[in-house]
Amino acid sequence: MRILILADIHSNLEALKKVLFYIEQKKIAIDKYYVLGDIVGYGPFPNECVQLIRELPDHKSIPGNHEWAVTGKVDTQYFNAHAREAIAWTRKILKNDHYIYLDGLPLTEKLQSDGLKYLFLHGSPENKIEEYIFNTYMAKRNFNCFKENICFFGHTHMPILFLKMEHKIEAIPLNDGDVVELKDEYRYLINVGSVGQPRDGDPRASFGILDTERRTVLIKRLDYNIKKTQKHIIDFKLPRGLATRLSDGR
Ligand code: ZN
Repeated sequence: MRILILADIHSNLEALKKVLFYIEQKKIAIDKYYVLGDIVGYGPFPNECVQLIRELPDHKSIPGNHEWAVTGKVDTQYFNAHAREAIAWTRKILKNDHYIYLDGLPLTEKLQSDGLKYLFLHGSPENKIEEYIFNTYMAKRNFNCFKENICFFGHTHMPILFLKMEHKIEAIPLNDGDVVELKDEYRYLINVGSVGQPRDGDPRASFGILDTERRTVLIKRLDYNIKKTQKHIIDFKLPRGLATRLSDGR
């Protein structure tokens, strides 16, 4: 089974369309889609992005902190000013039907396939929505909070692998074209990066393709029309900083 993993799209329609177009153009047969939260927030096209996700044939979607903020489950006082402003704007324009969809998403998704167990969530196994896994210290604690072989997470917008071997945990940043091989004897915390607002200094859209039979995860980066997204951010009077950070990849 081949699974497309998308995280942190953040209402960036250009980036999302580019990823989906790439899959179609390269005729990559995708059996399932997992979307790891933050479809909305920051960017200019929340309705269009939620619509595209909802149209994906066999998809599972879980919420991120931005969905929880839009639907009133977390207080935006802990968000930075730009994020808070974008949440308020998103709330105003989001169609009711999409609100209901985002409001009803489950915290995690699980999958068992070809002898391995997978867990999908936004933040961390310990705190599904809000915790960031930035380093091996946080990864170590979180490896004790789930039982599956592999956990896919988002939230940090950084493509990275935390690999748990018998006596140590290693952090391995992931780049375009990297292939993670999944082995029975190890455990994995994997972030495939952000589609719509990468923060690892590489502005290209980031995503992953899991092949459960081959037991591999491919990391892919794609250029997209950043200028177009930036223009819409400015035209819609969202904070300018949300536009500039896209080309900085920060
Ligand atoms: Zn995010």
